[in-house]
Amino acid sequence: MKPVTARTRLIVLLGDPVDHSLSPELQNAAIRTAGLDAVYLALRVEGHAVETLMRTVAAAGGGGNVTLPHKGRAAEALDGPSEAVEATGACNVFWWDPELGLCGDNTDAEAFRGAAEAVMGRSLRGARILLLGAGGAARAAVHAAREAGAARIAILNRTIARAERLRDERGADAGVDVLPDREATRGEDYDLVANATSLGLRAEDPLPLELEALNAGAVLDLVYGPDGTRWVRQARELGLPAEDGRRMLVLQAAAGFRRWFDRDPPLDVMFRAVGLPAETA
Ligand code: NAP
Repeated sequence: MKPVTARTRLIVLLGDPVDHSLSPELQNAAIRTAGLDAVYLALRVEGHAVETLMRTVAAAGGGGNVTLPHKGRAAEALDGPSEAVEATGACNVFWWDPELGLCGDNTDAEAFRGAAEAVMGRSLRGARILLLGAGGAARAAVHAAREAGAARIAILNRTIARAERLRDERGADAGVDVLPDREATRGEDYDLVANATSLGLRAEDPLPLELEALNAGAVLDLVYGPDGTRWVRQARELGLPAEDGRRMLVLQAAAGFRRWFDRDPPLDVMFRAVGLPAETA
């Protein structure tokens, strides 16, 4: 890391909690390798401070990421929301534009697409997807899958009303439907099964879904861990191509890096920083 000087740019992660995040390791490794005069710090903040911090840090030449539970509040604070922010109501990266003011994007959507297509080994166009969850990450996944031309997105969520809201936001003919329960997944064929619930974050969590009862082409867990997740290990034991959320994490981090520094990040360094082989890049 270069010594911090009066010219060092500040990039922050705003969330609560933030102490589990891999983003500081990931971004600082990339900043160091690229020889940039910047530092990335994680700040645990309450909601009322989010807009002030975003404006202050960005107007001072910096930028940042926003994570749970502040992505919705960050979206509302923007002067220049991207199309993905407007479609998802969530912002996870922000920066300053001299003409537009506080700008932001939702890079979870493009990162989901990149990670999904990597594990499937093909485009999402025409794909049949089973999506577990209906929170912020699921919303980004639905946006990405629709934009990419997926044929069908079946949503299974603990709270059905939340899944129905997500479906209804997309319009009735958008190929998005809601499953009533796990039984409805039995015997169905899916090109991709993706976990966008928070199940798997804690060691004692049950698996998001038993995979034996359905025909899955590939499995993507948005949850990640230093050695992958239990669900991904189960999928691999069944012979399925499967990945945890670290590739998606790196892809959204890379998209943020491009917006702050106007250059491509060293992807191999980012992959190594989260424990994936450099050739993943
Ligand atoms: P969120 O908005 O809080 O949504 C959480 C989702 O998990 C909801 O669908 C919720 O269902 C479900 N859920 C929570 N506890 C559950 C339980 N005990 N049983 C069944 N379902 C349960 O969170 P989010 O922002 O969407 O994030 C979801 C996960 O994705 C997190 O683990 C996050 O770390 C991960 N993520 C990863 C990346 C990446 O880059 N890899 C990016 C974004 C998010 P209800 O609606 O019923 O509450």
